Amino acid sequence: MSGETIASRIAHIRQSLPAATRLIAVTKQVGVDAMREAYMSGIRDFGESRVQEAEIKQEQLQDLPDLTWHFIGHLQSNKASKALHLFQWIHSVDSLFLAQRLNRIASTISWTPQVCLQVKVLPDPNKSGWSVPDLLQDLPQLAQCSYLAMRGLMTIPPLGLSEAEILAVFQQTRDLAAQIRQELTQYPTPSMPMDQLSMGMSGDYPLAVQAGATMIRLGTRLFGDRQ
Ligand SMILES: *Cc1c(COP(=O)(O)O)cnc(C)c1O
Repeated sequence: MSGETIASRIAHIRQSLPAATRLIAVTKQVGVDAMREAYMSGIRDFGESRVQEAEIKQEQLQDLPDLTWHFIGHLQSNKASKALHLFQWIHSVDSLFLAQRLNRIASTISWTPQVCLQVKVLPDPNKSGWSVPDLLQDLPQLAQCSYLAMRGLMTIPPLGLSEAEILAVFQQTRDLAAQIRQELTQYPTPSMPMDQLSMGMSGDYPLAVQAGATMIRLGTRLFGDRQ
């Protein structure tokens, strides 16, 4: 990969994706020069996992007007307010407590944050997120968070799975989103379209796309290995 440019990597990956798949460039530990290169290749969606790091980069990239920022890391609730001011999307809402806190803050601002709920269809002690039964149980209360646009599910498969197992994780996440859409028809919840699937990273994104991912989050494949 060393001889390739960011531009050629982006072009190559784009070619392999369905036109509607949103490619989010994950830029944690990536400098703003590389981010500008990605921008020149058409990237408008950046994903960051630290509020502080994103804040510094946003200052330095102020001249790029049409960016969308996606928060993809674990969000501590004391950073919720700051995150909502820096990011249009939060992919990693991982508890009812955090959702309700974001909802309260969102009630005081003039736009609607776009959020995904992070789910683990297999147990994974290294990741945060809802188990499937817990998410279904919290659904009625999540449906009341009307200041948030609940756009869908986000998942990261546990490490060490076979390709078939990873594909199964993505397919189960897709099916869970469909089940949630169905269950939500009981509630008056116009702000919960649940139409997005944020899944797929550098090592597994073709499987995620195969299972219906609408947003993939790529770091290493675009920018090379992180330190
Ligand atoms: C770092 C990260 C990515 C990108 O990972 P790569 O393997 O470098 O593509 C995607 N999603 C989340 C949540 C991440 O933390």
